[in-house]
Amino acid sequence: MSRRDEILEEMGLAPVWRLRESKEETVPAAAFPEGKGGEEEKTQDWIRLKEAVPACTACALHKGRKQTVFGVGDENADWLLVGEAPGAEEDRLGEPFVGQAGRLLDNMLAAIDLSRGDNVYIANVLKCRPPGNRNPEPEEVAKCTPYLQRQIGLIQPKLIVAMGRFAAQTLLNTDASIASLRGRLHSYAGVPLIVTYHPAYLLRNLPDKAKAWADLVFAIKTMNQIKDKKPDPDL
Ligand code: SF4
Repeated sequence: MSRRDEILEEMGLAPVWRLRESKEETVPAAAFPEGKGGEEEKTQDWIRLKEAVPACTACALHKGRKQTVFGVGDENADWLLVGEAPGAEEDRLGEPFVGQAGRLLDNMLAAIDLSRGDNVYIANVLKCRPPGNRNPEPEEVAKCTPYLQRQIGLIQPKLIVAMGRFAAQTLLNTDASIASLRGRLHSYAGVPLIVTYHPAYLLRNLPDKAKAWADLVFAIKTMNQIKDKKPDPDL
């Protein structure tokens, strides 16, 4: 049994799902403009951002945090995964997607031959933990989103995967349901974006793991098409 089959079996998805090549959908290359600054300027921007976030007191969430959760991974990644906000473990460790949900995410990434830190960057919309893991307030989102926007501008990912209702609704500026947003290609600031479930949700709703896997297969196909630079007139 291959490593992928082992992972899919662990996720309760084998032997049904297999990656297949598709010739149908086409998408353009990511659309952040070229020439936004040299490598030195980019390095300085990262440094400034990494200093600004831990010092941020722009919303009330700073009062309850143990630490900010900036984001982790390859700063030149093709893949950007965006979640909602830190939970208790993330707040304690300073890294997004740790614990059970993080392990599930790692397994899902491994199933499509990816791993965090290797051509993948992971961040949340909010950098501080909402108390009791409540939903973020609009004002908190408004204050914090510029950090994520800057991260996206610096990373220039080829594809964004919004995980969970909150990340999807924030990035797409909509109140549409996850069900209506899944399975379609969206765009955030010119970058192709795909919506899927948050791993923490999947832990509570096991039957939807199969849908999440379908989303990842869609994401892989989309990425392959982006790399082929096939234009999509509808995006
Ligand atoms: Fe600042 Fe964001 Fe933390 Fe609010 S959640 S204090 S805006 S870093």
